[in-house]
Amino acid sequence: MPDPQVVDEMALHLDGALSWARADGDLRSLPVTLPVALLLVLARRREWMPRSALMTMFWPEADAERAQLNLRVNLHKARALLKDLRIDVPIETDRRGLRWAPPVQVGVNGAVRGPLASGFEISGFERFDRWLRGWREACDGAAGRVVAGDTDDEDDLLRGVPLSQRFYGRRAENVHVINDFGAIGSAFPTAIGIAAARGDGKVLLIEGDGSLMMHIQELETIRRQGIRMLICAVNDGGYGAEVHKFRAQNYDPTESVHGRGDIAAIARGFGLRGEKITGLGRFEALFDAHYASGQAELWDLHVDDKIPSAPYRRIHFGEV
Ligand SMILES: [Mg+2]
Repeated sequence: MPDPQVVDEMALHLDGALSWARADGDLRSLPVTLPVALLLVLARRREWMPRSALMTMFWPEADAERAQLNLRVNLHKARALLKDLRIDVPIETDRRGLRWAPPVQVGVNGAVRGPLASGFEISGFERFDRWLRGWREACDGAAGRVVAGDTDDEDDLLRGVPLSQRFYGRRAENVHVINDFGAIGSAFPTAIGIAAARGDGKVLLIEGDGSLMMHIQELETIRRQGIRMLICAVNDGGYGAEVHKFRAQNYDPTESVHGRGDIAAIARGFGLRGEKITGLGRFEALFDAHYASGQAELWDLHVDDKIPSAPYRRIHFGEV
């Protein structure tokens, strides 16, 4: 096992040209090659990734045997590169999948060096190219905030919906993910517990509208207990996880659509602050007002109900 003290100081730097920070602070550029593209996909995924998904991304036209061989060869080259660069985070493999989860970082000494993996273009791999462009778009605008703030004092983030792809570069111990209990609704009470423990109001809950309604009465609890937190209800007017699965299978999703209730008004009814948000450009002023208020607040954030998330596009609509 690598020395945790040393590994803690190392990271894959995603902004600007891809590079690896060594323990002595030196940045080593990663070459623009297919093995590094493979590493980049794994570094974003972080969990076990099926070999088949990588084969489909990089060699969609090849037969299975050829694609398997290509993957093995490039995996070998990726390992050799990690050894050359003395990157002591192993690529884990088993018969079905791979995993590589190095520490990642955006920015050097508070400055973002450029767009995510800028200059990383490899020709002839259209699906990878599309995947990378999608990641760049997802990170656009978020990177500055990640490094602009004092990350040691970052707000706690909690998600009840699959938004992990937005959280790269954040301190893992500040992001709480509810995956242990397979039902909707538990993110809100969990966030209340985290907010009660922290006691400084620096907790952001990101939750769907349907899930939040499961325990909406707890707004009264946080009002009564004076617990400060910010709740962002991503409101698509339905149980989106079901709606998009139904649509992917050409079923009628009507029974999973309940309409957009006025959740901001519900929060105000419980004596908290509540804002309905239906357009861009308001977040900075709203956040300043929230921070100054010293109270719990709910943002009822209306989103399009027809656009599935990136993981859903991949898993349920067959996109890579
Ligand atoms: Mg919803």
